[in-house]
Amino acid sequence: MSNDKESIRAEVQNLGFSLAGFTTPDPLPGFSILQTWIQSGRHAEMGYLERPDTIAKRANPRLLMPECRSVIVLTAAYPAGKQNQRTPRIAAYAQPGRDYHHVFKTACNQLIETLTSLSQSSNSNPPQFKAFSDTAPILEKELAVRAGLGWIGKNGCLINPVYGSWLLLAEIFTSLEIEPDPPFSGTHCGSCQRCLDTCPAGCILPDRTVDAGRCISYLTIEHRTDIPLPLQQTLSDHIFGCDDCQDVCPWNRRAIPDPNSMFSNMMPHKGNLLSLEEALRLDEASFDEIFKSTPVNRAGWEGWLRNCLVAAGNSNDITLLPLISSLLKEHPSPMVRRHAAWACFRLEGNATS
Ligand code: SF4
Repeated sequence: MSNDKESIRAEVQNLGFSLAGFTTPDPLPGFSILQTWIQSGRHAEMGYLERPDTIAKRANPRLLMPECRSVIVLTAAYPAGKQNQRTPRIAAYAQPGRDYHHVFKTACNQLIETLTSLSQSSNSNPPQFKAFSDTAPILEKELAVRAGLGWIGKNGCLINPVYGSWLLLAEIFTSLEIEPDPPFSGTHCGSCQRCLDTCPAGCILPDRTVDAGRCISYLTIEHRTDIPLPLQQTLSDHIFGCDDCQDVCPWNRRAIPDPNSMFSNMMPHKGNLLSLEEALRLDEASFDEIFKSTPVNRAGWEGWLRNCLVAAGNSNDITLLPLISSLLKEHPSPMVRRHAAWACFRLEGNATS
């Protein structure tokens, strides 16, 4: 099938992916970094990362599909987020109107159909495929490096010399034998350390990982309980995710947008236009309606209000006090009420100082 790599790449681009690389499902050398990270407790409350079955699969991708002989790693570039002074910040990957998991699933299924028909003439056994995008225990960035797509920057993101780190990843595991691409050679951060200097939480570690318990992306998306008090001010106006370490990266400043990417012309969702006050006024039904098909849904309504209350407490905007007081008195969630109390305390403190 090695002669078909270019036709696969052409089809991949027709489907709106930006790049494809080919590699094997062999064990990944970067696994030892993950092991150290987990042993050091840097994975915060993501206990599922400790499960022996998921650890084994991250160490050896072949366990996800024993008949797998090749992995096609796919990336789609997405637009850098638009900053609007009037609205609190949502990470760029979560701004398009459709969740990339759903978009990738459709595109991967289409690619699998094409690969199946391409291989029918040369192979009597029907080929097997499994598609993943952040949906299985896979060291996705390590696979992408081995497939030649880029290097892992000091901020832990995959960086491609053309598209920077504004990239989302998917993988197709297949029983087809496809000649692997050469791995990406070297890292190209050099002496730069802008991401380390910029990260408001100081959570970037020397081994290209992050201390999740301090990371704003983790706290505003994955974390299910209170935002620890000492970290609330570091959230600033981030209400879902954080791009600070990517915004300052010189590779992103010179990145070329991909006009053919499936995300390039996707309309942003209405949640991007909400002021902090509007965001705090969302009831559960409105939250579901606006975010049900977007990554923001992962935070859940309570998590969303928790994040917005932290941003409100950081905002100096005392006009929000009556709204926050009503959440403090009336909201059914103890977590929301606790964060409303903190926001009132901060804003009232600012008003009297
Ligand atoms: Fe590497 Fe600098 Fe980008 Fe950080 S900001 S990932 S150090 S190039």
